[in-house]
Amino acid sequence: MSITVVPTPTVPTSIDASVDHAIRSIVSGASTDATCTTDLAAGPWDFDIRPGYGPGSSMGDVIPTGAPRQGELPLAYREASEEELDERIRAAKRTLGDRAVILGHFYQREEVVRHADYVGDSFQLATAAKGRPDAEAIVFCGVHFMAETADLLSGPDQAVILPNLAAGCSMADMADIDQVEDCWEQLADVLGDLDTPDESGRVPVVPVTYMNSSAAIKGFVGRHGGIVCTSSNAMTVLEWAFERGRRVLFFPDQHLGRNTAKAMGVPLSQMPMWNPRRPLGGSTASELLDSRVILWHGFCSVHRRFSVAQIDQARAEHPGVRVIVHPECPMEVVDAADEAGSTDYIRRAIAAATEPTTFAIGTEINLVRRLAAQFPQHRIFCLDPVVCPCSTMYRIHPGYLAWVLEELVAGRTPNRITVSADVADPARIALERMLAARPPLAASAR
Ligand code: SF4
Repeated sequence: MSITVVPTPTVPTSIDASVDHAIRSIVSGASTDATCTTDLAAGPWDFDIRPGYGPGSSMGDVIPTGAPRQGELPLAYREASEEELDERIRAAKRTLGDRAVILGHFYQREEVVRHADYVGDSFQLATAAKGRPDAEAIVFCGVHFMAETADLLSGPDQAVILPNLAAGCSMADMADIDQVEDCWEQLADVLGDLDTPDESGRVPVVPVTYMNSSAAIKGFVGRHGGIVCTSSNAMTVLEWAFERGRRVLFFPDQHLGRNTAKAMGVPLSQMPMWNPRRPLGGSTASELLDSRVILWHGFCSVHRRFSVAQIDQARAEHPGVRVIVHPECPMEVVDAADEAGSTDYIRRAIAAATEPTTFAIGTEINLVRRLAAQFPQHRIFCLDPVVCPCSTMYRIHPGYLAWVLEELVAGRTPNRITVSADVADPARIALERMLAARPPLAASAR
Protein backbone atom coordinates (compact mmCIF):
# COMPACT_ATOMS: atom_id res chain seq x y z
CA MET A 1 0.00 0.00 0.00
CA SER A 2 1.40 3.44 -0.80
CA ILE A 3 1.59 6.07 1.92
CA THR A 4 0.05 9.45 1.20
CA VAL A 5 1.97 12.01 3.21
CA VAL A 6 -0.40 14.56 4.68
CA PRO A 7 1.29 17.47 6.49
CA THR A 8 0.23 17.74 10.10
CA PRO A 9 -1.14 21.22 10.83
CA THR A 10 1.57 23.08 12.76
CA VAL A 11 0.08 26.18 14.32
CA PRO A 12 2.19 27.63 17.11
CA THR A 13 -0.33 28.76 19.67
CA SER A 14 -0.68 29.85 23.24
CA ILE A 15 -2.89 26.81 24.00
CA ASP A 16 -0.86 24.25 25.93
CA ALA A 17 -1.60 20.79 24.48
CA SER A 18 0.16 19.00 27.33
CA VAL A 19 -2.10 16.81 29.47
CA ASP A 20 0.90 16.25 31.78
CA HIS A 21 1.04 19.98 32.48
CA ALA A 22 -2.71 20.06 33.11
CA ILE A 23 -2.46 17.18 35.59
CA ARG A 24 0.48 18.70 37.45
CA SER A 25 -1.38 21.97 37.62
CA ILE A 26 -4.45 20.26 39.10
CA VAL A 27 -2.41 18.28 41.63
CA SER A 28 -0.46 21.36 42.75
CA GLY A 29 -3.70 23.29 43.24
CA ALA A 30 -2.89 25.85 40.53
CA SER A 31 -5.91 24.66 38.51
CA THR A 32 -9.43 23.97 39.74
CA ASP A 33 -10.06 21.36 37.02
CA ALA A 34 -10.60 17.75 38.09
CA THR A 35 -8.56 14.63 37.39
CA CYS A 36 -9.63 11.01 37.93
CA THR A 37 -6.57 10.29 40.11
CA THR A 38 -3.71 12.33 41.51
CA ASP A 39 -1.48 9.26 40.85
CA LEU A 40 -1.26 10.53 37.27
CA ALA A 41 1.25 13.13 38.50
CA ALA A 42 3.67 10.34 39.47
CA GLY A 43 6.11 8.73 37.03
CA PRO A 44 4.68 5.64 35.28
CA TRP A 45 7.70 3.69 36.62
CA ASP A 46 6.11 3.86 40.07
CA PHE A 47 3.52 1.39 38.72
CA ASP A 48 5.70 -0.86 36.54
CA ILE A 49 6.03 -3.62 39.13
CA ARG A 50 2.40 -3.48 40.26
CA PRO A 51 -0.17 -5.76 38.62
CA GLY A 52 -2.46 -3.28 36.88
CA TYR A 53 -2.76 -0.89 33.97
CA GLY A 54 -1.71 2.04 36.16
CA PRO A 55 -3.49 5.31 36.84
CA GLY A 56 -5.95 6.65 34.26
CA SER A 57 -9.15 5.54 32.62
CA SER A 58 -8.60 1.78 32.74
CA MET A 59 -7.12 1.54 36.25
CA GLY A 60 -10.15 -0.45 37.46
CA ASP A 61 -9.84 -3.07 34.69
CA VAL A 62 -8.42 -6.50 35.48
CA ILE A 63 -4.99 -7.07 33.98
CA PRO A 64 -4.51 -10.64 32.69
CA THR A 65 -2.09 -13.00 34.36
CA GLY A 66 1.09 -13.07 32.37
CA ALA A 67 0.70 -9.56 30.91
CA PRO A 68 4.16 -8.21 30.01
CA ARG A 69 5.98 -6.31 32.77
CA GLN A 70 8.54 -3.58 32.33
CA GLY A 71 11.89 -3.84 34.12
CA GLU A 72 13.09 -0.92 36.19
CA LEU A 73 13.89 2.21 34.20
CA PRO A 74 17.40 3.41 35.14
CA LEU A 75 17.42 6.20 37.74
CA ALA A 76 18.95 8.79 35.40
CA TYR A 77 15.83 8.70 33.23
CA ARG A 78 13.44 8.71 36.17
CA GLU A 79 15.08 11.78 37.69
CA ALA A 80 15.66 13.77 34.50
CA SER A 81 13.66 16.95 33.94
CA GLU A 82 11.26 17.36 31.01
CA GLU A 83 13.80 19.63 29.29
CA GLU A 84 16.70 17.19 29.79
CA LEU A 85 14.70 14.26 28.41
CA ASP A 86 13.62 16.36 25.46
CA GLU A 87 17.25 17.17 24.62
CA ARG A 88 18.41 13.56 25.12
CA ILE A 89 15.70 12.27 22.77
CA ARG A 90 16.60 14.86 20.13
CA ALA A 91 20.31 14.04 20.40
CA ALA A 92 19.73 10.26 20.15
CA LYS A 93 17.42 10.78 17.17
CA ARG A 94 20.05 12.86 15.41
CA THR A 95 22.65 10.15 15.99
CA LEU A 96 20.38 7.37 14.77
CA GLY A 97 19.21 9.27 11.67
CA ASP A 98 17.34 7.05 9.23
CA ARG A 99 18.20 3.92 11.23
CA ALA A 100 15.20 4.52 13.50
CA VAL A 101 11.66 5.70 12.88
CA ILE A 102 9.46 6.90 15.75
CA LEU A 103 5.70 6.35 15.54
CA GLY A 104 3.33 8.28 17.81
CA HIS A 105 -0.29 7.31 18.36
CA PHE A 106 -2.90 10.09 18.46
CA TYR A 107 -3.46 9.33 22.16
CA GLN A 108 0.15 9.74 23.25
CA ARG A 109 1.16 12.57 25.48
CA GLU A 110 2.45 15.71 23.79
CA GLU A 111 5.98 15.30 25.22
CA VAL A 112 6.28 12.04 23.24
CA VAL A 113 4.30 12.89 20.08
CA ARG A 114 6.50 15.91 19.36
CA HIS A 115 9.36 13.49 18.59
CA ALA A 116 7.35 11.22 16.29
CA ASP A 117 8.12 10.95 12.58
CA TYR A 118 4.55 9.83 11.94
CA VAL A 119 1.37 10.46 13.93
CA GLY A 120 -1.81 8.46 13.38
CA ASP A 121 -4.03 5.63 14.55
CA SER A 122 -2.69 2.13 15.06
CA PHE A 123 -3.05 0.80 11.53
CA GLN A 124 -1.94 4.04 9.88
CA LEU A 125 1.25 3.87 11.92
CA ALA A 126 1.90 0.21 11.17
CA THR A 127 1.61 0.91 7.44
CA ALA A 128 3.72 4.07 7.76
CA ALA A 129 6.49 1.88 9.17
CA LYS A 130 6.15 -0.31 6.08
CA GLY A 131 7.13 2.71 4.01
CA ARG A 132 10.45 2.98 5.87
CA PRO A 133 12.23 -0.28 4.97
CA ASP A 134 15.56 1.47 5.61
CA ALA A 135 14.81 1.82 9.34
CA GLU A 136 16.41 -0.92 11.43
CA ALA A 137 14.31 0.06 14.46
CA ILE A 138 10.64 1.03 14.60
CA VAL A 139 9.99 2.68 17.95
CA PHE A 140 6.24 2.42 18.49
CA CYS A 141 4.92 4.94 21.01
CA GLY A 142 1.57 3.23 21.42
CA VAL A 143 0.41 0.02 23.10
CA HIS A 144 1.33 -3.65 22.79
CA PHE A 145 -1.11 -4.81 20.10
CA MET A 146 -0.02 -1.89 17.89
CA ALA A 147 3.62 -2.93 18.13
CA GLU A 148 2.57 -6.49 17.23
CA THR A 149 0.74 -5.20 14.14
CA ALA A 150 3.83 -3.21 13.13
CA ASP A 151 5.90 -6.39 13.50
CA LEU A 152 3.43 -8.25 11.25
CA LEU A 153 3.76 -5.61 8.53
CA SER A 154 7.46 -4.74 8.79
CA GLY A 155 10.49 -6.49 7.31
CA PRO A 156 12.11 -9.46 9.06
CA ASP A 157 15.26 -7.45 9.81
CA GLN A 158 13.37 -4.55 11.36
CA ALA A 159 13.03 -4.50 15.15
CA VAL A 160 9.77 -3.13 16.54
CA ILE A 161 10.33 -1.60 19.98
CA LEU A 162 7.71 -0.75 22.59
CA PRO A 163 9.33 1.78 24.97
CA ASN A 164 7.41 0.45 28.01
CA LEU A 165 6.35 -3.22 27.96
CA ALA A 166 3.61 -2.46 30.51
CA ALA A 167 1.77 -0.43 27.85
CA GLY A 168 -0.91 -2.99 27.07
CA CYS A 169 -4.53 -2.20 26.17
CA SER A 170 -7.27 -3.22 28.55
CA MET A 171 -9.78 -3.63 25.72
CA ALA A 172 -7.49 -5.83 23.62
CA ASP A 173 -6.79 -7.90 26.74
CA MET A 174 -10.54 -8.55 27.19
CA ALA A 175 -10.44 -11.05 24.29
CA ASP A 176 -8.11 -13.79 25.46
CA ILE A 177 -7.23 -16.42 22.85
CA ASP A 178 -8.21 -19.35 25.10
CA GLN A 179 -11.62 -17.78 25.75
CA VAL A 180 -12.09 -17.15 22.02
CA GLU A 181 -11.18 -20.75 21.12
CA ASP A 182 -13.64 -21.96 23.77
CA CYS A 183 -16.36 -19.67 22.38
CA TRP A 184 -15.75 -21.09 18.89
CA GLU A 185 -16.21 -24.65 20.15
CA GLN A 186 -19.45 -23.72 21.93
CA LEU A 187 -20.75 -21.98 18.81
CA ALA A 188 -20.04 -25.13 16.78
CA ASP A 189 -22.21 -27.10 19.23
CA VAL A 190 -25.12 -24.74 18.53
CA LEU A 191 -24.60 -23.73 14.88
CA GLY A 192 -23.12 -26.94 13.46
CA ASP A 193 -19.94 -27.32 11.40
CA LEU A 194 -18.57 -23.78 11.25
CA ASP A 195 -16.47 -24.47 8.13
CA THR A 196 -19.25 -25.82 5.90
CA PRO A 197 -21.21 -23.30 3.79
CA ASP A 198 -24.99 -23.66 3.45
CA GLU A 199 -26.90 -23.74 0.16
CA SER A 200 -26.39 -19.96 -0.18
CA GLY A 201 -22.63 -20.43 0.03
CA ARG A 202 -22.35 -18.84 3.45
CA VAL A 203 -20.76 -20.35 6.56
CA PRO A 204 -22.60 -20.18 9.92
CA VAL A 205 -20.35 -17.47 11.38
CA VAL A 206 -17.46 -15.25 10.26
CA PRO A 207 -15.11 -13.96 12.97
CA VAL A 208 -14.26 -10.25 12.74
CA THR A 209 -11.76 -8.62 15.03
CA TYR A 210 -11.14 -4.95 15.61
CA MET A 211 -7.55 -3.86 15.04
CA ASN A 212 -7.39 -3.36 18.82
CA SER A 213 -6.76 -7.02 19.57
CA SER A 214 -3.74 -9.22 20.11
CA ALA A 215 -1.87 -10.86 17.22
CA ALA A 216 -3.14 -14.20 18.59
CA ILE A 217 -6.74 -13.06 17.96
CA LYS A 218 -5.89 -11.76 14.49
CA GLY A 219 -4.27 -15.14 13.80
CA PHE A 220 -7.41 -16.95 15.00
CA VAL A 221 -9.54 -14.83 12.68
CA GLY A 222 -7.21 -15.48 9.75
CA ARG A 223 -7.36 -19.25 10.36
CA HIS A 224 -11.16 -19.25 10.39
CA GLY A 225 -11.92 -17.26 7.24
CA GLY A 226 -12.32 -13.98 9.09
CA ILE A 227 -11.07 -10.44 8.78
CA VAL A 228 -9.73 -7.45 10.73
CA CYS A 229 -11.42 -4.03 10.80
CA THR A 230 -10.57 -0.53 11.97
CA SER A 231 -12.99 2.06 13.32
CA SER A 232 -12.95 3.77 9.92
CA ASN A 233 -13.73 0.73 7.75
CA ALA A 234 -15.90 -1.38 10.11
CA MET A 235 -19.03 -1.08 7.95
CA THR A 236 -17.24 -2.16 4.76
CA VAL A 237 -15.71 -5.08 6.65
CA LEU A 238 -19.08 -6.17 8.08
CA GLU A 239 -20.55 -6.08 4.55
CA TRP A 240 -17.65 -8.32 3.46
CA ALA A 241 -18.39 -10.71 6.32
CA PHE A 242 -22.18 -10.83 5.70
CA GLU A 243 -21.50 -11.83 2.08
CA ARG A 244 -19.61 -14.86 3.39
CA GLY A 245 -21.45 -15.77 6.56
CA ARG A 246 -24.91 -15.89 8.08
CA ARG A 247 -23.67 -14.01 11.13
CA VAL A 248 -20.59 -12.33 12.56
CA LEU A 249 -18.69 -12.93 15.79
CA PHE A 250 -17.26 -9.48 16.59
CA PHE A 251 -14.53 -8.81 19.11
CA PRO A 252 -13.29 -7.33 21.32
CA ASP A 253 -15.26 -4.04 21.34
CA GLN A 254 -19.00 -4.54 21.78
CA HIS A 255 -19.65 -0.83 21.18
CA LEU A 256 -17.93 -0.57 17.79
CA GLY A 257 -19.71 -3.78 16.76
CA ARG A 258 -23.11 -2.63 17.97
CA ASN A 259 -22.85 0.93 16.62
CA THR A 260 -21.70 -0.29 13.22
CA ALA A 261 -24.25 -3.09 12.87
CA LYS A 262 -27.07 -0.83 14.08
CA ALA A 263 -26.15 1.77 11.44
CA MET A 264 -26.43 -1.05 8.87
CA GLY A 265 -29.97 -1.86 10.03
CA VAL A 266 -29.29 -4.94 12.17
CA PRO A 267 -31.87 -4.98 15.01
CA LEU A 268 -30.53 -4.95 18.58
CA SER A 269 -32.53 -8.11 19.26
CA GLN A 270 -30.24 -9.93 16.82
CA MET A 271 -27.05 -8.79 18.55
CA PRO A 272 -26.60 -10.99 21.63
CA MET A 273 -23.59 -10.44 23.87
CA TRP A 274 -20.97 -13.14 24.41
CA ASN A 275 -19.71 -13.02 28.00
CA PRO A 276 -16.80 -15.51 28.12
CA ARG A 277 -17.44 -16.25 31.78
CA ARG A 278 -20.92 -17.67 31.13
CA PRO A 279 -22.09 -20.85 29.33
CA LEU A 280 -23.00 -19.98 25.72
CA GLY A 281 -21.78 -16.48 26.51
CA GLY A 282 -24.92 -15.84 28.58
CA SER A 283 -27.32 -16.34 25.64
CA THR A 284 -29.69 -19.16 24.77
CA ALA A 285 -29.14 -21.45 21.80
CA SER A 286 -32.18 -19.95 20.04
CA GLU A 287 -30.85 -16.41 20.55
CA LEU A 288 -27.56 -17.45 18.97
CA LEU A 289 -29.34 -19.20 16.08
CA ASP A 290 -31.40 -16.05 15.44
CA SER A 291 -28.39 -13.71 15.76
CA ARG A 292 -26.76 -11.59 13.05
CA VAL A 293 -23.88 -10.20 15.15
CA ILE A 294 -22.56 -11.83 18.32
CA LEU A 295 -20.84 -9.12 20.34
CA TRP A 296 -17.87 -9.98 22.53
CA HIS A 297 -18.15 -8.52 26.03
CA GLY A 298 -15.29 -6.00 25.65
CA PHE A 299 -15.08 -2.22 25.89
CA CYS A 300 -12.66 0.68 26.02
CA SER A 301 -12.52 2.32 29.44
CA VAL A 302 -11.59 5.66 27.87
CA HIS A 303 -14.63 5.81 25.63
CA ARG A 304 -16.96 4.33 28.23
CA ARG A 305 -16.49 7.50 30.28
CA PHE A 306 -18.59 9.53 27.83
CA SER A 307 -22.28 9.99 28.57
CA VAL A 308 -25.48 11.48 27.19
CA ALA A 309 -25.54 13.82 30.22
CA GLN A 310 -22.19 15.29 29.10
CA ILE A 311 -23.62 15.90 25.63
CA ASP A 312 -26.74 17.53 27.11
CA GLN A 313 -24.53 19.79 29.21
CA ALA A 314 -22.35 20.74 26.23
CA ARG A 315 -25.45 21.65 24.21
CA ALA A 316 -26.89 23.70 27.11
CA GLU A 317 -23.65 25.61 27.70
CA HIS A 318 -22.57 26.00 24.06
CA PRO A 319 -25.56 26.52 21.74
CA GLY A 320 -24.64 25.39 18.22
CA VAL A 321 -21.88 23.07 19.48
CA ARG A 322 -20.91 20.27 17.08
CA VAL A 323 -20.59 16.99 19.02
CA ILE A 324 -18.37 14.30 17.49
CA VAL A 325 -17.67 11.04 19.32
CA HIS A 326 -15.66 7.91 18.62
CA PRO A 327 -17.64 4.73 17.75
CA GLU A 328 -16.06 2.97 20.75
CA CYS A 329 -18.49 5.07 22.85
CA PRO A 330 -21.71 3.42 24.08
CA MET A 331 -24.63 3.38 21.62
CA GLU A 332 -26.69 6.00 23.53
CA VAL A 333 -23.76 8.43 23.31
CA VAL A 334 -23.27 7.83 19.59
CA ASP A 335 -27.01 8.29 19.04
CA ALA A 336 -27.02 11.58 20.95
CA ALA A 337 -23.97 13.00 19.13
CA ASP A 338 -24.07 14.87 15.83
CA GLU A 339 -21.46 12.60 14.29
CA ALA A 340 -19.40 9.53 15.16
CA GLY A 341 -16.12 8.55 13.57
CA SER A 342 -12.58 7.31 14.03
CA THR A 343 -9.79 9.47 15.43
CA ASP A 344 -8.79 10.28 11.89
CA TYR A 345 -12.38 11.21 11.00
CA ILE A 346 -12.49 13.58 13.98
CA ARG A 347 -9.18 15.19 13.00
CA ARG A 348 -10.23 15.63 9.38
CA ALA A 349 -13.68 16.97 10.32
CA ILE A 350 -12.10 19.72 12.44
CA ALA A 351 -9.47 20.48 9.78
CA ALA A 352 -12.23 20.80 7.16
CA ALA A 353 -14.36 23.30 9.14
CA THR A 354 -14.02 26.65 7.39
CA GLU A 355 -15.96 28.78 9.90
CA PRO A 356 -14.98 29.17 13.59
CA THR A 357 -16.86 26.34 15.32
CA THR A 358 -17.29 24.97 18.82
CA PHE A 359 -16.51 21.24 18.92
CA ALA A 360 -17.23 18.91 21.85
CA ILE A 361 -15.22 15.75 21.25
CA GLY A 362 -15.71 12.30 22.76
CA THR A 363 -12.32 10.66 22.53
CA GLU A 364 -9.02 10.46 24.42
CA ILE A 365 -7.99 13.74 25.98
CA ASN A 366 -4.43 13.92 24.62
CA LEU A 367 -5.80 14.04 21.07
CA VAL A 368 -8.49 16.55 22.00
CA ARG A 369 -6.01 18.95 23.63
CA ARG A 370 -3.62 18.65 20.69
CA LEU A 371 -6.42 19.44 18.25
CA ALA A 372 -7.41 22.45 20.38
CA ALA A 373 -3.82 23.75 20.14
CA GLN A 374 -3.51 23.01 16.42
CA PHE A 375 -6.79 24.67 15.48
CA PRO A 376 -7.05 27.80 17.67
CA GLN A 377 -9.62 29.31 15.29
CA HIS A 378 -12.09 26.79 16.78
CA ARG A 379 -13.15 26.16 20.34
CA ILE A 380 -12.44 22.47 20.96
CA PHE A 381 -13.00 20.69 24.25
CA CYS A 382 -13.35 17.16 25.60
CA LEU A 383 -16.89 16.08 26.49
CA ASP A 384 -15.57 14.55 29.72
CA PRO A 385 -14.65 17.44 32.05
CA VAL A 386 -12.43 15.15 34.16
CA VAL A 387 -8.82 14.88 32.98
CA CYS A 388 -8.42 11.10 32.69
CA PRO A 389 -6.09 9.87 29.93
CA CYS A 390 -5.80 6.30 28.64
CA SER A 391 -3.88 4.49 31.39
CA THR A 392 -1.92 2.35 29.00
CA MET A 393 -0.89 5.06 26.53
CA TYR A 394 0.17 7.03 29.59
CA ARG A 395 2.77 4.35 30.35
CA ILE A 396 4.91 5.70 27.50
CA HIS A 397 6.75 8.55 29.21
CA PRO A 398 9.58 10.50 27.53
CA GLY A 399 11.93 8.81 30.02
CA TYR A 400 11.27 5.43 28.35
CA LEU A 401 11.61 6.93 24.88
CA ALA A 402 14.98 8.47 25.79
CA TRP A 403 16.09 5.14 27.27
CA VAL A 404 15.23 2.97 24.24
CA LEU A 405 16.77 5.47 21.81
CA GLU A 406 20.01 5.70 23.80
CA GLU A 407 20.10 1.89 24.02
CA LEU A 408 19.84 1.77 20.23
CA VAL A 409 22.66 4.30 19.94
CA ALA A 410 24.73 2.01 22.17
CA GLY A 411 24.08 -0.92 19.80
CA ARG A 412 21.49 -2.72 21.96
CA THR A 413 17.87 -3.51 21.06
CA PRO A 414 15.60 -3.19 24.11
CA ASN A 415 11.92 -4.19 24.43
CA ARG A 416 11.63 -5.87 21.03
CA ILE A 417 8.12 -7.13 20.18
CA THR A 418 7.99 -10.19 17.92
CA VAL A 419 5.08 -12.31 16.72
CA SER A 420 5.82 -15.99 16.08
CA ALA A 421 5.38 -17.27 12.51
CA ASP A 422 2.51 -19.64 13.40
CA VAL A 423 0.48 -16.63 14.56
CA ALA A 424 1.88 -14.05 12.13
CA ASP A 425 1.05 -15.94 8.92
CA PRO A 426 -2.73 -16.26 9.48
CA ALA A 427 -2.84 -12.79 11.11
CA ARG A 428 -1.39 -11.30 7.93
CA ILE A 429 -4.05 -13.09 5.89
CA ALA A 430 -6.77 -11.45 8.03
CA LEU A 431 -5.12 -8.04 7.53
CA GLU A 432 -4.76 -8.60 3.77
CA ARG A 433 -8.48 -9.42 3.54
CA MET A 434 -9.19 -6.09 5.20
CA LEU A 435 -6.90 -4.24 2.79
CA ALA A 436 -8.62 -5.90 -0.15
CA ALA A 437 -12.04 -4.94 1.26
CA ARG A 438 -11.04 -1.30 1.83
CA PRO A 439 -7.65 0.10 2.81
CA PRO A 440 -7.65 2.51 5.75
CA LEU A 441 -6.31 6.05 5.34
CA ALA A 442 -2.60 6.80 5.63
CA ALA A 443 -0.80 8.33 8.62
CA SER A 444 0.34 11.95 8.75
CA ALA A 445 4.05 12.75 8.61
CA ARG A 446 5.23 15.38 11.09
S1 SF4 B 1 -7.92 4.19 24.34
FE1 SF4 B 1 -8.98 2.28 24.85
S2 SF4 B 1 -8.67 0.94 23.08
FE2 SF4 B 1 -7.14 2.63 22.94
S3 SF4 B 1 -5.29 1.82 23.95
FE3 SF4 B 1 -6.47 2.94 25.51
S4 SF4 B 1 -7.74 1.32 26.49
FE4 SF4 B 1 -6.99 0.48 24.54
